[in-house]
Amino acid sequence: MIAGIDIGGTKIAVGMVDDTGRVLSRAESPTDAERGYKEAFARIEQMLRVTSHAAGQEITGIGIGSTGPIDPFTGEFGEVNFFPNWRGENLVSDLARAFQVTAAMENDADAAALAEYGWGAGQNKKRLIYVTVGTGIGAGIILDGRLYRGVDGAHPEIGHFLVDASGPQCSCGFHGCWESLAAGPAMVAWFKSQMPMDYPQAADLTAKRICEMAFEGDALALQVVNREARYLGLGVASLITTFAPDAIVLSGSVMKSAVLFLEEIRKTILRSCRYVPFEKTELALASLGDDANLIGAARVWHHRFHPEGGQRA
Ligand SMILES: [Zn+2]
Repeated sequence: MIAGIDIGGTKIAVGMVDDTGRVLSRAESPTDAERGYKEAFARIEQMLRVTSHAAGQEITGIGIGSTGPIDPFTGEFGEVNFFPNWRGENLVSDLARAFQVTAAMENDADAAALAEYGWGAGQNKKRLIYVTVGTGIGAGIILDGRLYRGVDGAHPEIGHFLVDASGPQCSCGFHGCWESLAAGPAMVAWFKSQMPMDYPQAADLTAKRICEMAFEGDALALQVVNREARYLGLGVASLITTFAPDAIVLSGSVMKSAVLFLEEIRKTILRSCRYVPFEKTELALASLGDDANLIGAARVWHHRFHPEGGQRA
């Protein structure tokens, strides 16, 4: 039985995942990074033993998906925003030693891409791009059935490709990256820039709330949603033109309201992707739900050690 570990900025989830991608048992705890790596490792080890016992299964391999940057080859954490004090620690070798099994780690968007490719909406789509739109925009690219890696194992940052050079400043320091225009916080920022001074409850605004307001017919929220759909469309269309993939799988908290955006995304593809057979690229929504990252973590193990196994019939 493969154990998956999903490490995020706010929580760590672990679970036993069978070879069809089903989660048999799970546990989670806050990341609590400030208590140090050793404490977090002890907690992860304990959760693994408890979930393994709950599923009545012995752990035979461990896969990890983590917010990055991480080094997929050595298993070391880089300078991760949420836990900079873990830098240089090696969860892969520590777990392999503790459980006497093989272990592997990937960036969490890459892990989720592997999950959708192996067990979800992108099954057997050999050229697949997985895009997650939430507080940021992340992506994982599968080419010919294998995870695409950049130079030195680097994870490509598709959220930071340029969509509009006159756009807002991005966290990376540049202007007009896709993420700065189309991630959830961009919807909130634009709403706030357009709302009247005396707008009620502006402090509690979230992308989710704006989508709800759009469903209720709020005029400003609808403008924000239209703008969001336009920028999502420009990014997705550019990916189709660049890669001509078999499928693009959309995921993330903003995509829970995908019905608000899909029509415009499709129109933008139709208008802009003239030089590739865009009609053959399937646009799909992620199908693995809230456990996608956990399932993806387990899939990381399959991809590394058992690449042809674990395909759902
Ligand atoms: Zn950027």
